[in-house]
Amino acid sequence: MNNLLNADLHCHSVVSDGTLTPEELAARAKAHGVELWALTDHDEVGGQARALAAAKAQGMHYLTGVEISVTFIGQTVHIVGLGFDADNAALVQGLRDTRGGRKQRALEMSDGLAKAGITGAYEGALPYVGNPELISRTHFARFLVESGVCKETNEVFRKYLTEGKPGYVPHRWASLKDAVTWITGAGGMAVIAHPARYKFTPNEEYALFTEFKGHGGQGVEVVTGSHSAAEYVTYAHTAKEFGLAASRGSDFHSPDESHTELGTLPLLSSELTPVWHLLSNRIQ
Ligand code: AMP
Ligand code: MN
Ligand code: MN
Ligand code: MN
Repeated sequence: MNNLLNADLHCHSVVSDGTLTPEELAARAKAHGVELWALTDHDEVGGQARALAAAKAQGMHYLTGVEISVTFIGQTVHIVGLGFDADNAALVQGLRDTRGGRKQRALEMSDGLAKAGITGAYEGALPYVGNPELISRTHFARFLVESGVCKETNEVFRKYLTEGKPGYVPHRWASLKDAVTWITGAGGMAVIAHPARYKFTPNEEYALFTEFKGHGGQGVEVVTGSHSAAEYVTYAHTAKEFGLAASRGSDFHSPDESHTELGTLPLLSSELTPVWHLLSNRIQ
């Protein structure tokens, strides 16, 4: 399995904030030529058994996956885990704790939106939620689009759901150390998701990568649906600078919302070490 492998190691199902089932995603990944796949639902491994079975049914290789919400220097950072034991007790408990505050946060988001004149947002978002423990901003965004408040989810985030906007509620997620430790303790590899998305200063970003490595993190997403072509180059350099393996993933959520299709991003450049080189004994 070399750099030319069509690996898609980041996407979401109805188990978190995607709109397709694990089986539908597996079929879609296969249809777009994916050879190695991982389902990485937010803070939840409840879809892993179905995803593995669906990958096998489609004739794809599979790595277990998750995307953990972390708070680092006041910002939300996402850490992807790959190739771990999905039954590991500390990981399962850590994810349960991380999901724990989402309902209260959602109720507060709804109160904030009500003050801006949008009433009933919590009840409105619920029909879009596939997993009661995983109500997310994405579900609110779908409700606000379907009810005609905004034209598309991006606009909802810009106007209502990001810092300083009426539906935004600051939240404390897992620590970087805990997230990396849960993943590595379960035999997997921790990967910094879509690093270009964060609004860190250069010094803060350096701290993120340094501390992540210090805790045992080994990978970074270089080619992701959240990066521009220029950012592939920037983070290929960062991967080499920090001695991290490189990952590739679409971050696909929904046929209607996602601009990046499963399995269609550029391949990893040949000078990078792909994460799947270090995970060969974890591939199913
Ligand atoms: P939450 O975990 O509830 O804070 O929701 C985060 C999710 O919101 C991310 O995983 C994305 O799926 C989605 N999201 C964040 N920013 C945007 C955006 N600008 N446009 C569309 N979706 C977004
Ligand atoms: Mn998401
Ligand atoms: Mn993310
Ligand atoms: Mn994601």
